[in-house]
Amino acid sequence: MNKGRLIIVSGPSGSGKDTVLEKLFSKHPEVRLSISSVTRAMREGETKDGKYHFVSREEFLSALDRGEMLEHNVYLGNYYGTPKKPVDDAIREDAEIILEIDVNGAKNIKKLYPDAVSVFIMPPSLQVLKERLSGRGTESHEQIEGRLKIALSEIEHAPKYDYIVINDKLDKAVEDLTAIIMSDRSKTERQINIINEVLNDAESCHW
Ligand code: ADP
Ligand code: 5GP
Repeated sequence: MNKGRLIIVSGPSGSGKDTVLEKLFSKHPEVRLSISSVTRAMREGETKDGKYHFVSREEFLSALDRGEMLEHNVYLGNYYGTPKKPVDDAIREDAEIILEIDVNGAKNIKKLYPDAVSVFIMPPSLQVLKERLSGRGTESHEQIEGRLKIALSEIEHAPKYDYIVINDKLDKAVEDLTAIIMSDRSKTERQINIINEVLNDAESCHW
């Protein structure tokens, strides 16, 4: 059996993380998504059974007190956190799990799991990022301005990531992220067990 693996996906709001991931999951349903708990309001188009578990501030803080969050951060006044259990389950069950989290969350996860693979989704330009955020039509002008300011500080952290995927043409970005996950799957340390199994078989084999 292989070892489970954490894959961190970050990138400024509007860079296309959700869009790229949705396509990846449609082709690779075996890859799991960590469902974050958030205190922000649900956006148009979001559902209760989507990528977030929408909770009240009180619910979030009690979960935090009970030690149920692996990491958490405050983004534009709202709490966002990664529940610990699904990540532990994925590791125990040898599954890959994607954590779509911001740069602070990524730093904390890398401290806890140095083997986690980190990928930063870059927009091709700031202009395109602005157009995508406005085009999505889910935030007010003021909220978009706030997200763009944070975007610049997030992009400054991009060089710390293991991989950069430029989301210009969507299909190419999905292909690049898939290639990163697939090549990580083939790493020798993840295949040691199969090598050992074959060698063990050979011992009982009479040629
Ligand atoms: P994020 O999850 O990073 O906040 P989204 O996935 O919501 O970003 O994408 C922001 C907007 O940009 C959406 O309206 C989406 O349809 C659009 N978008 C994403 N990727 C591309 C792309 N490669 N080309 C054109 N539009 C894109
Ligand atoms: P949004 O409001 O656009 O869905 O998310 C805002 C930011 O929060 C994005 O950068 C997203 O990656 C990040 N985020 C989402 N979930 C988590 C989480 O559980 N932990 C952390 N640290 N960031 C998160």
